[in-house]
Amino acid sequence: MKIIVVGSSHGGFETVQESLLDYPDATIQWYEQGDFLSFLSCGMQLYLEGTVKNVDDVSYATPEGMRAKGVDVRLQQAITAINADQHTVQVKDLKNNTTREESYDKLVLSVGAVPFELPVAGRDLANVYAMRGRDWAIKLKAKTVDPTVKNVVVIGSGYIGIEAAEVFAKAGKNVTVVDVLPRLLSLYLDQEFTDELTTEMQAHNIYPAVGQSVKEYRGADGKVTKVVTDQAEYDADLVIEAAGIRPNTAWLKDVLDLDRSGRIKINEYLQTSQPDIFAVGDATVVKYAPTGEEIPIALATNARRQGRYAAKNLVTADQPVPAVSGSSALSVFDYHFASTGIKEGTADKSGVKTQSVVVTETYRPHFVPADENPEVKFKLTFDPETGRILGAQIMSKADVTANINAISLAIQGKMTVDDLAYADFFFQPGFDRPWNIMNVAAQKAQRLMH
Ligand code: FAD
Repeated sequence: MKIIVVGSSHGGFETVQESLLDYPDATIQWYEQGDFLSFLSCGMQLYLEGTVKNVDDVSYATPEGMRAKGVDVRLQQAITAINADQHTVQVKDLKNNTTREESYDKLVLSVGAVPFELPVAGRDLANVYAMRGRDWAIKLKAKTVDPTVKNVVVIGSGYIGIEAAEVFAKAGKNVTVVDVLPRLLSLYLDQEFTDELTTEMQAHNIYPAVGQSVKEYRGADGKVTKVVTDQAEYDADLVIEAAGIRPNTAWLKDVLDLDRSGRIKINEYLQTSQPDIFAVGDATVVKYAPTGEEIPIALATNARRQGRYAAKNLVTADQPVPAVSGSSALSVFDYHFASTGIKEGTADKSGVKTQSVVVTETYRPHFVPADENPEVKFKLTFDPETGRILGAQIMSKADVTANINAISLAIQGKMTVDDLAYADFFFQPGFDRPWNIMNVAAQKAQRLMH
């Protein structure tokens, strides 16, 4: 069997890893159009802030290492067309501009996405950047130490935008974050969390320009100097667009069924409309456990899970990929937060009725000194009629984010507040309190319901 995998980021990497285990006799060709294998944007902040010194370390695989495992790695070679009937792909070798055909038995696409470019005047000015992939990582790193860059405007306050803002604030720049939504991070956290985080960010020289839409970039000498919104103008020596992504799929529209946003339609076995072509990662959608609907959730975790399942289903498509809760975590200066599932602020979008409880208490018992005992805020969201757990958010200066993984599991397992109220969680004063904060929240929810 010959397997062709396209794309060397999270989804492609996992597909190759699992295929090596499941089909030791298969020929695996792994294509990447870039000149670097498996750059992982998730590690970009660690590189930009200097924790990781070498940009090339932000990867899990090297061409040599993968070739030693028997994988035929092809860099700077793009797949530019697919003939599904013939089971062939067209390969463009970007090094010498030649084109050839390769046959496949099974094809897995993990072609991912590119940053969305705002369709505004001035978009072509110099110093309008994005934050995804190795090339942007190198360019952004140079700007962190460029003394001519004093004012940075980040467009978009999702986790990528906030990572960018924190990097440049720590580098001593004045940072403005523009978002059309009324709160920073509003797709990840409800207001009681974002109010506190916004105050923290303001204290670190990040200005929230929320509820505003970008109208234009203005410049001088070909370089950006200002971002103009419908409400104000902001000085900008550097603009970082982090306002969503666009799937890398325009070239596939005549071969595969795509949805309205251009994402590749897949079934629960990761098969596209062509059964021998599978697709995974940011170019696809995932099944959302709280509601059962298919939605885009662009996370490495999802790409990796899908990559594994695509490989498992290559020969016999009989292992449905599990639904996900959409769990993510981030640190913002001294705060750590995580969330999963439905938030009150986004419940309307899902068409789901929700009720929530918030618990704020110290991380450890009261007798522990205050400087080692920060506050924890936890919000549990559930179905007011059935008590089914639908989502949760947590934030603290202590790292208590792992609680959210437990809630993610509860969502996937369709558990209720009754299940959670007296669930067995450990207690040790070094880590938590006699009742875990998840128990406390679920007990509070029970009192509201019964
Ligand atoms: P991509 O990462 O988009 O990669 C696709 C690859 O395919 C690219 O290398 C591209 O060059 C190649 N390719 C595309 N088309 C072709 C073609 N025709 N021929 C050959 N090669 C092709 N997720 C988390 O879960 N946790 C995090 O902490 C996190 N942090 C992030 C931080 C940043 C700054 C960014 C940008 C993203 C972060 N993500 C995080 C999201 C995560 O990086 C993505 O969900 C993940 O990379 C998606 O993987 P993918 O395989 O679908 O595609």
